[in-house]
Amino acid sequence: LLGIHIYLNMVKPVGRAHEDLKRAAEESKRAEMIRKEFVANVSHELKTPLTSISGFIETLQQGAAEDPEIRTRFIDIIAIETSRLKRLIEDLLVLSDIENRKESADVQEFSAKEEIEKTVQTLQPIAEDKNVELITGFDEDVVILGSPDRFRQMMVNLIENAVKYSEEGGRVWIEARKLDTKVQVTVKDEGIGIAEEHLDRLFERFYRVDKSRSAKAGGTGLGLSIVKHIAALFNAELKVESKVGEGSIFYVIFER
Ligand code: ADP
Repeated sequence: LLGIHIYLNMVKPVGRAHEDLKRAAEESKRAEMIRKEFVANVSHELKTPLTSISGFIETLQQGAAEDPEIRTRFIDIIAIETSRLKRLIEDLLVLSDIENRKESADVQEFSAKEEIEKTVQTLQPIAEDKNVELITGFDEDVVILGSPDRFRQMMVNLIENAVKYSEEGGRVWIEARKLDTKVQVTVKDEGIGIAEEHLDRLFERFYRVDKSRSAKAGGTGLGLSIVKHIAALFNAELKVESKVGEGSIFYVIFER
């Protein structure tokens, strides 16, 4: 009996250590795979606009520049692709900044209403371009703890998406409400909606439901993954409900 007891005591910790090691190895393998996939994705995303830019420049150099109409059209395309590259790089920098500095130095209590109103004001022009109405609604004194800059960044991404994936003349509602012990911020649109099978993967980097539509609307495929990272910084819960053809609603639920 004594022998068995000792045997069990010896085997158990060794076995557990082995399992821990195995799990750690699997985790690091998975992290490495995700990293490789990310680098491959980034390279592809950077290469696509660059290939187009250099192609159009070459054609212009070979004589297309002499026709004023063609010249204007090509330069416009180059400008669009350049701003796409710029947005992509900006989004990548935001992502890496959030990932590297998990703790934001800038933690303070701020008014959700004030920050949302500032954000809505800056987005008014892109909404007006599409004749989309931005409608806000607030409970009194909704206060959130965290970085107001990060909060605005998250709201920009959600509201921009709501506008991007709305039809002309649509409406978008942005609200901050008090729940019993929480604060709920929602962005709701009556746009194209998202099919259920995509909802699980929506917050992954570079995941798009419709790649060509996203690109046409100036999307980078990083907006929602930035939202997810920022929600995590706030310890907030992130949810989405959507119906194809009816619209989507994104919830960010903060602890108070
Ligand atoms: P993108 O830059 O392509 O918009 P995001 O990460 O912001 O990338 O969003 C990922 C994908 O989720 C989008 O490509 C789009 O297909 C879908 N999506 C996001 N927000 C909405 C919305 N409000 N309505 C419909 N689809 C949306």
